Amino acid sequence: MTEVAETVATEVAKEEEKVEKEERVKKFRKQAPKKKVCAFCLDKSNTIDYKDVNKLRRYITENGKILPRRQTGVCSIHQRELAEAIKRARIMALLPFKGE
Ligand SMILES: [Zn+2]
Repeated sequence: MTEVAETVATEVAKEEEKVEKEERVKKFRKQAPKKKVCAFCLDKSNTIDYKDVNKLRRYITENGKILPRRQTGVCSIHQRELAEAIKRARIMALLPFKGE
């Protein structure tokens, strides 16, 4: 084997290693969960209406519990407002306190 061939061979091996590493990184990124964006921040209407039952229903479980922020992706400011609205809606009998 000539010297030139040897260096080419090592360079090819290096390149292959690099590609493999990149693929591994890509795989890892695929597995990482997508960052959710707060739905209330996206639509510019700042207030969360307790009468808007269809919207609020998306943020409670079947049993009427308020979903945690980590599941819905709502930001902390809006989660507080959302909880307030859901509680208000419960008092107004628009949403259940407990599952039917
Ligand atoms: Zn928000």
